[in-house]
Amino acid sequence: MLYIGCHLSASKGYEDMGKQALSINANTFAFFTRNPRGGSAKEISVKDTENFLKLAEENNFGKLVAHAPYTMNCCSADENIRKFALDTMIDDMKRMEFTPHNYYNFHPGSHVKQGVDIGIELICEALNKVITPDQTTTILLETMAGKGSEIGRSFEEIRRIIDNVTLENKLGVCLDTCHIWDGGYNIVDNLDSVLEEFDRVIGLERLKAVHLNDSLNPLGAHKDRHAKIGEGHIGLDALINVINNPHLKNLPFILETPNDLNGYAKEIEILRANYTN
Ligand code: FE
Ligand code: FE
Ligand code: ZN
Repeated sequence: MLYIGCHLSASKGYEDMGKQALSINANTFAFFTRNPRGGSAKEISVKDTENFLKLAEENNFGKLVAHAPYTMNCCSADENIRKFALDTMIDDMKRMEFTPHNYYNFHPGSHVKQGVDIGIELICEALNKVITPDQTTTILLETMAGKGSEIGRSFEEIRRIIDNVTLENKLGVCLDTCHIWDGGYNIVDNLDSVLEEFDRVIGLERLKAVHLNDSLNPLGAHKDRHAKIGEGHIGLDALINVINNPHLKNLPFILETPNDLNGYAKEIEILRANYTN
């Protein structure tokens, strides 16, 4: 089953996102848990989440892939910024339980001159405070392009985070095709060996979701600029191979391409037409 969707606006609530998804033939989606620019999140309506859960069940939705604000940095050198990240994640974990058993994706963070070791230590410290044994949400570490001092630029860095989190059974990985391409993993010519490497370093059982994006830049550019499907250096054929790969084909695929809803609908149509069951 192809689970595919895109980033949707959460401003009108969950049921509205479900309807938006259905209108573009999507059966999963991503949304920011709060305004990425910060501030408190709007109150969740139980009725709204119940209506959404019903709609999702009736339409065989896959797992949702919520996204933490991208401005959040768990490993900032500034204690106030770290505190904001921690408070945000703790609150988001409570909010996620209104729609249990879904995914919460976040960018591990940027160490900003502190070095990778301290960065990873701070990320693990935060995760060890956030994760509780009874949460149903799986937190996903997103693979990053390695722009600036971003952590998560290699599978090894992701592995090191997992290794130092106590309740690691609550952790998974979200593979962003634009990011790993920019990070130097050649998914165009060697998708199989990239996935073998993922398996060897992290373990494919950790891979829970894919951000399906083309990239404006060549392999290893460490830039992180998304392109529409088929309009970047990765190209349509390689992205079709991604959705059909036996290790990936049942994961939720989230488009984060520069599109409006109509543009997303077209990409979903093309990808559905090229998916082999
Ligand atoms: Fe992201
Ligand atoms: Fe992404
Ligand atoms: Zn990106």
